[in-house]
Amino acid sequence: MRRPSTHDAIVIGGGPAGASAALALARRGWAVAIVEKSAFPRRKVCGEYMSASNLALLDRLGIGDAWRAEAGPEIRRVGLFAGDTRIEAPMPGARAGPAARDGFGRALGRDILDTLLLDAARSAGAEVFQPCRAVAIERDGDRQAVRIQAKGGSSGNEATILRAPVIVAAHGSWEPGPLPSQLGKVNRSSDLLGFKAHFTGSSLPPDLMPLLTFPGGYGGMVLADHGRMSISCCIRRDVLTRLRGSLAREGGGQVSAAEAVEHHIMATCRGARDALEQARRDGPWLAAGPIRPGIRAGYEADIFRVGNAAGESHPIIAEGISMALQSGWLLALELGEAASGHGKREAAGRRYEAAWRGLFSTRVHAADAIARLALGPGGAALIEAVVRNFPQTLTLGARLSGKTKAVPGLADARLAR
Ligand SMILES: Cc1cc2nc3c(=O)[nH]c(=O)nc-3n(C[C@H](O)[C@H](O)[C@H](O)COP(=O)(O)OP(=O)(O)OC[C@H]3O[C@@H](n4cnc5c(N)ncnc54)[C@H](O)[C@@H]3O)c2cc1C
Repeated sequence: MRRPSTHDAIVIGGGPAGASAALALARRGWAVAIVEKSAFPRRKVCGEYMSASNLALLDRLGIGDAWRAEAGPEIRRVGLFAGDTRIEAPMPGARAGPAARDGFGRALGRDILDTLLLDAARSAGAEVFQPCRAVAIERDGDRQAVRIQAKGGSSGNEATILRAPVIVAAHGSWEPGPLPSQLGKVNRSSDLLGFKAHFTGSSLPPDLMPLLTFPGGYGGMVLADHGRMSISCCIRRDVLTRLRGSLAREGGGQVSAAEAVEHHIMATCRGARDALEQARRDGPWLAAGPIRPGIRAGYEADIFRVGNAAGESHPIIAEGISMALQSGWLLALELGEAASGHGKREAAGRRYEAAWRGLFSTRVHAADAIARLALGPGGAALIEAVVRNFPQTLTLGARLSGKTKAVPGLADARLAR
């Protein structure tokens, strides 16, 4: 066991939420450690679309220009591909002010985005422990001790103890584990499992992001960086099990979950089938989940939660990266001088939770309502009928999901470079 190391904050997870929180706290002069279990770059289950409202924040985090240089085309139209139907409507964009130059969202692979963000946090002074998994958090007086295990150390898994008064849980929500901030394991037939793959050579119009609905699930397609088209979806566990069973009977052998998902989308969604007709898969299908939509405590027992760990919207609205980046930033704004003393941390926790709800609860509830409709009996047909008659509901849905909502606190001088 190595000797203990002391910081002001330990951030568990180096995705968008962890990197933005760590970077912003480091800017405030905090000694920050980030613990990330995976080596980067790594791909991730995610549609990879990000709203333009985040660009001003990415500028503050120091990666705005790199994102602009790397990301895919502007997404000016939102669509619905359902059965044989294809409907399109304008995506709401920033019309005026400094944000207008980035009027529309774009998609950037998580292998690239997450690496840019973590590198920026490192440059701001955060100490990055990677690939290292946080395996335990224990109270130690006014501080907490986080046990981390390095992958592939000379003696297998080496353990190190980090100590800090503030712990930021940024480990996402899809993986159960032993940490008090991690969610328990679930296994229900209604669980939604996430899948994602990149394809090249797709004929999807470069400025269109369609929502896909199909029996038992929903998904999305968008052109990301370097000609890669990202397709991602969620599908009910019981539907997937049935699909795998029926495909196995037809073909004789067991098909993989990903093969079953791809087959199902191609068989039931004409728009997706047409877009992928000439396309080639770039890398394997990835799977994750079950996803855990909902709003959780933002602060509990000296652990602050950001990103998916704090709350998750159904990915049907493609706002998870925004919520991750922005919640990390919000937390750094509220934490301020709160590192010393339990009372100050409690007060910062309450302020942060209130700010979080003010910014995100509408989109979490809107996403929940849309997803329930898409997944419920007859719901996909109802969505199709409404959107066919009123295509502008797609634009309204995108607006309700927070795509044009400004990020607070960007002028705060304490978080300047
Ligand atoms: C099918 C699907 C499509 C989606 N599409 C979009 C989209 O188009 N746009 C969008 O904005 N959002 C989308 N999302 C949501 C988005 O992917 C998430 O909301 C986002 O990744 C959350 O960021 P995060 O930083 O909170 O967590 P994550 O991105 O999950 O990052 C958590 C990090 O913590 C690390 N970690 C976990 N446990 C530990 C541990 N014990 N120790 C150390 N490190 C640990 C992980 O390796 C990971 O790097 C989609 C989600 C799904 C399922």
